Amino acid sequence: NSVVHWFKCDLRTQDNKSLHMASEKAKEEGLPLIAFYIISPQDFEAHLTAPVRVDFILRNLEVLKEELGKLDIPLYVETVEKRKEIPGRILELLKEWGARHLFTNVEYEVDELRREAKMVEMCLENGIAMDVLPDTCVVSPGELQSGSGKQYAVYTPWFRTWVAHVHDHPKLLEQFPPPSKNPSKARKTFPKLFDSTIPSAPPNKSLTAEEKKRFKSLWPAGEEEAKARLTKFCEQKISGYTDHRNFPSEAATSSLSPHFAAGTLSARTAIKYARDHNTTKKLNAGTQGIQTWISEVAWRDFYKHVLANWPYVCMNKSFKPEYTNISWEYNDEHFETWKTGQTGYPIVDAAMRQLLHTGWMHNRCRMIVASFLAKHLLTDWRMGEAFFMTHLIDGDFASNNGGWGFAASTGVDPQPYFRIFNPLLQSEKFDAEGNYIRKWVKELEGVKGKAIHDPYERGCGKEAKKGGYPKRVVDHKESRERCLARYKEGLGRE
Ligand code: FAD
Repeated sequence: NSVVHWFKCDLRTQDNKSLHMASEKAKEEGLPLIAFYIISPQDFEAHLTAPVRVDFILRNLEVLKEELGKLDIPLYVETVEKRKEIPGRILELLKEWGARHLFTNVEYEVDELRREAKMVEMCLENGIAMDVLPDTCVVSPGELQSGSGKQYAVYTPWFRTWVAHVHDHPKLLEQFPPPSKNPSKARKTFPKLFDSTIPSAPPNKSLTAEEKKRFKSLWPAGEEEAKARLTKFCEQKISGYTDHRNFPSEAATSSLSPHFAAGTLSARTAIKYARDHNTTKKLNAGTQGIQTWISEVAWRDFYKHVLANWPYVCMNKSFKPEYTNISWEYNDEHFETWKTGQTGYPIVDAAMRQLLHTGWMHNRCRMIVASFLAKHLLTDWRMGEAFFMTHLIDGDFASNNGGWGFAASTGVDPQPYFRIFNPLLQSEKFDAEGNYIRKWVKELEGVKGKAIHDPYERGCGKEAKKGGYPKRVVDHKESRERCLARYKEGLGRE
């Protein structure tokens, strides 16, 4: 007999609610704890999971297996080709292991919720208890309501309520201890599980040897690595976060998003750790940088609340239905220049190349390129959303969908549609010296001074041409006007 924990986006031993509860149950009943993870190629396909993200998940599983092994807890990982067969296969495994109780942390995406509901039903029919626990958010969806009893659709009042709620419920920031060591009989009873290996990535999600090496050195895996990043960020950078976070050449943000997405770090741990560096126990007082960072981590909660409350955002629909009728351009050539970082707008191209090379992009640049695609190129924002998912190591449905909805003005609490980022001004403001552009757009290495932001218009056309840098794919002023007209038309406004 056994107690079982099902790992999903929570690849850590520390501060993992379900794993902790499973361990407590196993101890109480004197049973071994078994952990498992199912690799689903069809899920990766359906969710457009980036190969770099799949690789990061698999590397994290290797580390996790080792960590759990130290506690004599086996981590069994299996690939199940067809997603609809996953609940059935899990049930088979549970029966094979004589499971009395299955624990897991809830995921709020629609497909996952349906699967969990099915799993609960199947467990019930087979006399196995199942607990699905809220863990990924600091404050779980459904806990916060506006004055009229509804889910907030605007971040600022939501955040005020979120802060008040966490202050009123200090337990929300308490950590869940790691699991206890399994009884020694676990290794004897389940030797095959301890000997099992982590499967490799499905063929269509695998990386070249060069990519594997590059991503491994850029993004080392494991919860200890996540904790080390958090510690370093809180000790060295967080106090300057408010002033520096918008400058992509400065590396002033935590770059913890891949760890939040894989679950190698919990948002609870991160916020508590940051708060404990503050001069106050309040989340909205004390050191400015700490307050700002906590409010950014809270955006992650906000978008998950939105997803849980309005699940239709998972179904390729605009949060704001009135934005359904915008006539997008669907110009393949334009889309291609954006995807490859060849738009002729240096800040946009630098950002897209950072994404292609590292699997990650700075937040300011995500906003610039998303706005550029939706508004300057008038390309359906969902195409950009999908492209981001297929390339981001931190791809997270709720945050990505929220970010794209914000930039394209179709989402929850968005930019107004008539606010159109001017890429040139963004570039001058947030990359004044052009260091970020120079790092990623090698063709512009010969361009000196401020001309880096707009080489062809600022007397450096010869250098840009020599380097092979393309001319602008669209004119700023014309595309701005086209965008305003098209949005107005879609909204039925004069
Ligand atoms: P920090 O500035 O150190 O912030 C700490 C953490 O707070 C982040 O790791 C993240 O978990 C959270 N956070 C910060 N800003 C946001 C935000 N605007 N929305 C939600 N959470 C936030 N974030 C993802 O994790 N996955 C995505 O797929 C994703 N797609 C995005 C797409 C667009 C178009 C935009 C505009 C933003 C997107 N973001 C996404 C949000 C944000 O850009 C990243 O979380 C951030 O750049 C990660 O870097 P960091 O860890 O250094 O962030």
